[in-house]
Amino acid sequence: MITVAEEQSRILHADELEKLMAALSRKGYEIIGPSVRDQAIVYERIESAAQLPAGWIDEQERGCYRLRRREDQAWFGYAAGPQSWKRYLHPAEVQLWSAERSGGTFRILNNEVWPKPRYAFLGVRACDLAAIEVQDRVLIGDKYRDAIYEGLRQSVFIVAVQCTRAAATCFCASMGSGPRARGGFDLLMTELISAEGHRFVVEVGSKGGAEVLAELQTTPATGADLQEAEAAVNLAASQQVRSIDTTGIKDLLYQNFDHPRWDNVAARCLTCANCTMVCPTCFCTTVEDVTDVTGDHAERWRRWDSCFTLSFSYIHGGNVRTSSKARYRQWMTHKLASWIDQFGTSGCVGCGRCIAWCPVGIDITEEVRAIREGNNHGNT
Ligand code: SF4
Ligand code: SF4
Repeated sequence: MITVAEEQSRILHADELEKLMAALSRKGYEIIGPSVRDQAIVYERIESAAQLPAGWIDEQERGCYRLRRREDQAWFGYAAGPQSWKRYLHPAEVQLWSAERSGGTFRILNNEVWPKPRYAFLGVRACDLAAIEVQDRVLIGDKYRDAIYEGLRQSVFIVAVQCTRAAATCFCASMGSGPRARGGFDLLMTELISAEGHRFVVEVGSKGGAEVLAELQTTPATGADLQEAEAAVNLAASQQVRSIDTTGIKDLLYQNFDHPRWDNVAARCLTCANCTMVCPTCFCTTVEDVTDVTGDHAERWRRWDSCFTLSFSYIHGGNVRTSSKARYRQWMTHKLASWIDQFGTSGCVGCGRCIAWCPVGIDITEEVRAIREGNNHGNT
């Protein structure tokens, strides 16, 4: 008997991936996918499967990220690189408008300079699907909507790829955001390399996904294919060595505002803001006006900002978070506690980027554990 899962899943052979990319291009998408640059796996514009990171694996630990060769030619064998899809949906720099002084008048030249490419994201992991969902809620899920994010987000086509391996920094399983992707994609692929060959088990998540898949040569997935895919994703879950116990975490952090651990972490934190830059959910921005030396041309830019910068907390009369203790506490308490009050979800999806890219190796999972262990307020 054929099961529903078998009926809904197809096998795409590895040499058809190029055709998937061609089908997306024909539909007018600019394909953004993983590739190797500067000894890291980054997401950038790709035009061919030859640009994918075939045969590379990422080793990650606190303050450490390096690529090394794996034994096979898997295209999606890595975990999470330094960038997330935030780079494209919520760009680091956006020119909001420019203006020119001519004679006695000041004229706005444009206020819609931001192009709206149609992106197809290839290789989105479960944690990053969860992060996109978080940013959807923050940036377009309420009365005040971010028009730039909305313009970019509404036309995105997502090809998600299941993780079949976890880095030592991953802890999505404990955050309930992975490693299995459960929604938010147009197509979902699990890469398999075994005696049956290099292939993908593909599931459809949308009408658009079904249309793209219909243009490709696929065969029905067998029960054995599905079992192999299931085992591969289970392996990624079982490999995770880090976790956060989220039980009562909101109250735990609210009640431990004066915990001595904040002094401990502050003594190590450089307030460099790396953790917020790499975090796929951090969304804070600032606005800067610049003029040329003549004063005749002006531009307004929106740029990523961070709660780790001193100026971020500037309000009338001065900065309210002058110490690194106040800034680290703000970041972690917002991520794991007040985010829940604000947006109904955690601000952390367990991607582990902030652990790998912190230059002094501060580990959010360890900080939560230390506060829980020294908690005298009745939370377990
Ligand atoms: S806080 Fe760290 S682990 Fe959590 S989503 Fe952000 S970068 Fe990833
Ligand atoms: S926790 Fe690490 S990455 Fe974040 S600001 Fe401090 S030193 Fe930088």
